[in-house]
Amino acid sequence: MIFETVYCESHGNRISCAACFDCGKLLCVECARRSFGRDYCSSCEHAERSKQRRRYSDKLVFIAEGRERQEARALALRHAALIALCLATAAILLRLH
Ligand SMILES: [Zn+2]
Ligand SMILES: [Zn+2]
Repeated sequence: MIFETVYCESHGNRISCAACFDCGKLLCVECARRSFGRDYCSSCEHAERSKQRRRYSDKLVFIAEGRERQEARALALRHAALIALCLATAAILLRLH
């Protein structure tokens, strides 16, 4: 069995202990960034973090939109009730004439 020593791609003299989950770059203890339960190189970790943040803000926008839609529906229902009331009043008035 051959044990091949792999070195960090940024620090050629340091033994690699991990590989980036995204780009597969070999990393030493100092270079490896542990994020979301995986090892990343610094640039991939950065990209992954902003991706996660974007996903989170998308979710927030989605929730906000849902709430807006609900409010719009409630407003439409209120309008419909008001219109129905107006029509009923008009019908009564017309009948009185
Ligand atoms: Zn990477
Ligand atoms: Zn390194």
